[in-house]
Amino acid sequence: MYRTHTCGELRPENIEQNVVLSGWVQRIRDLGGMTFIDLRDRYGITQLIFDLDANRELCESARSLGREYVIRVSGIVRERSNKNKNIPTGDVEIEVQKLEVLNKSQVPPFTIETETDGGEEIRMKYRYLDLRRAPLQFNIQLRHRMALEVRNYLSANNFMEIETPYLIRSTPEGARDFIVPSRMNANQFYALPQSPQTFKQLLMVSGFDRYFQIVRCFRDEDLRADRQPEFTQIDCEMSFVEREDVLNVFEGLTKQLFRNIKNIELPEFTRMPYSEAMRLYGSDKPDLRFGMEIQDITELGKGKGFGVFDSADYVLALVVSGAAEYTRKQLDELTDWVKRPQIGATGLIWAKFSADGTAKSSVDKFFTADDLNAWKSSCGAADGDLMLIVAGNKKNIFGIAGELRLELGNRLGLRDSSKYAALWVVDFPLLEWDEDAQRYFAMHHPFTSPVAEDASKLESEPGSVRANAYDLVINGVEIGGGSIRIHDRNLQMRMFRALGFTEEEAAAQFGFLLGAFEYGAPPHGGIAFGFDRFAAILAGQNNIRDFIAFPKNNSGRDLMADSPSFVDQKQLDELNIRLVKPE
Ligand code: ASP
Repeated sequence: MYRTHTCGELRPENIEQNVVLSGWVQRIRDLGGMTFIDLRDRYGITQLIFDLDANRELCESARSLGREYVIRVSGIVRERSNKNKNIPTGDVEIEVQKLEVLNKSQVPPFTIETETDGGEEIRMKYRYLDLRRAPLQFNIQLRHRMALEVRNYLSANNFMEIETPYLIRSTPEGARDFIVPSRMNANQFYALPQSPQTFKQLLMVSGFDRYFQIVRCFRDEDLRADRQPEFTQIDCEMSFVEREDVLNVFEGLTKQLFRNIKNIELPEFTRMPYSEAMRLYGSDKPDLRFGMEIQDITELGKGKGFGVFDSADYVLALVVSGAAEYTRKQLDELTDWVKRPQIGATGLIWAKFSADGTAKSSVDKFFTADDLNAWKSSCGAADGDLMLIVAGNKKNIFGIAGELRLELGNRLGLRDSSKYAALWVVDFPLLEWDEDAQRYFAMHHPFTSPVAEDASKLESEPGSVRANAYDLVINGVEIGGGSIRIHDRNLQMRMFRALGFTEEEAAAQFGFLLGAFEYGAPPHGGIAFGFDRFAAILAGQNNIRDFIAFPKNNSGRDLMADSPSFVDQKQLDELNIRLVKPE
């Protein structure tokens, strides 16, 4: 028998019992006549004790072990004289009577403890060792518990988990596809799905009514900390629903996850139109853990001879409460920050409203005390507040003000990772104009239906049509998004036309879907959540890599298996692929 208990299980009620434990040697401490070993497995750590006087031979073999050796011990559970309040097994220890090495280990390349000395790269290379560490064990376990909750909640709500194919047809809409050559169909290729979008819609046509899948998706995009080439979605679709039906079911799912996993009861989620999110927060994923809404002082700022304001479409202000004492240095720092190319402001104007009622600004040459006081009352600022102002064109300036708002939130500690603010952003634009391509793209995807009263403008004013689409946003992070779909063939065709498809192109790429719409497609809609991101948010973190057992690095590489890799020309020959420049 390898074990009677796990390393996280023994408590004072087990004292005096004979037990067998197996696990990894995390740490060895030699204190003269006594040797202590922390034995670790997934469930926890138990202290082993060896007494030199009682059994010299056994104690010496304990001393000869190394970190990460796999051992089996049998012994008696004893009460610890020196209790460790930090771990659940900290009241007891094992007086070891028998020790057996099950497998040796080389000295690990970094310390396998909660805090490690290993850099990112080496830990990715030895991912299987990094995964032994408690924080990663916790994350992967959290992910498992979430998946279980999702399956329970959705099954209880009549959703059925159905698998869809991973080898599918490539479509040029959306992100870049990962392509897979077909050996049996020379010169032809599959793509890996960016999402099961069309399949889940077809399942609605098939009458499954409610579908879900915890499913891998693939997008060949440039990577960032919160993106991976393959990632997991909780993908869902429902028939005979309107927007509110979908939002209510998935607000319920989100609340249940928070309740059962975090013990947090979330209040009802606001539904905020996209236009309001952009106007007040300069973002379609506003962080509502704090206020500091963007204020429009364009009218007050213009016409006083200050060229920057006069030539701008908008003059936007943020009120930083109680910050009138900001130093020159702090203001210069913020100015440099907004002028970085990633943010792109031309400068930053400030006005200080001192506690004694006086006002001062960086543009005193152009604005009188009365002008400043007009800004103050228009924005609801108070004595002691600082006002930060940016000006610019319609296209960028709300985004810039929004970035500044988030930066101030960071600097002022207003973005507390233990707090949660969830909302639905609704009524996105249906289409987005792309200057380079000189055509419209679907902001969500081509299957999203327009808001009913806007549908008639699809040809005349495509840019002003709102989509019946929604995003779930938590703490400024987009956790999920979806829409009510088009289920009418004619409307779908009009949408394709708005996207610049000819009849033939639409038929060639999406003929199967258009065809299905001719056989009684029910009204339907759905949503998909980014599962990895959702897990990170629930843990109060932002790097999704820590929630994926075997992630890729920022260049899309698996450093452990060293992939992608070159393959033999023989393999390529079967696929009819000739490398331009084989290496
Ligand atoms: N398929 C969409 C996506 O991956 C989500 C949805 O509309 O359900 O973003």
